[in-house]
Amino acid sequence: VSGPSRSVPSDESQRESPRVEAALGRLRSAGERVTPARLAVLRVVDAADVADEHLTAEQIGARVAAHEPAVHRATVYRTLTSLTGTGVLSHVHLGGTATVYHLAHPARAVPANADETGTATHGHAHVQCSSCGRVLDAPAGVLDDVARRLRDDLGFELDTSHAALLGTCAECAQG
Ligand SMILES: [Zn+2]
Ligand SMILES: [Zn+2]
Repeated sequence: VSGPSRSVPSDESQRESPRVEAALGRLRSAGERVTPARLAVLRVVDAADVADEHLTAEQIGARVAAHEPAVHRATVYRTLTSLTGTGVLSHVHLGGTATVYHLAHPARAVPANADETGTATHGHAHVQCSSCGRVLDAPAGVLDDVARRLRDDLGFELDTSHAALLGTCAECAQG
């Protein structure tokens, strides 16, 4: 049934999700190359975002390895750092030493979460349960009053999406 004229798409012409396409477009317009490692990392992080997951570098590395065995783990870690530096990914620090990654959405983050340098954020705050470790997204505006008071009282610009606030989730609070 497959037609003889069916062409094999190259990696870059393959159909990506709109979010991955947008990230690739931003990479290219920044003069950055789209490498197999970068594409694999963007796909994994995008799928995790859609599934409402928060993945560490180790977890992203494991998933990339499942899809692209040729991409070394060290390359994945370097790729996470460079994509975050380019503003295509954002990261969130959790309790302890864990860091998790999201695709960055600068358009949506403006103006509520864009800082003065235009650093990309993914536009929502995070809370993490100290007992069970689960990470929950909090609405983007939930820390607005806190941010306003810190600005007024201390002249401090709070980066509301850069680190998770620690506490106890509803389930653990019941137990
Ligand atoms: Zn909990
Ligand atoms: Zn999140």
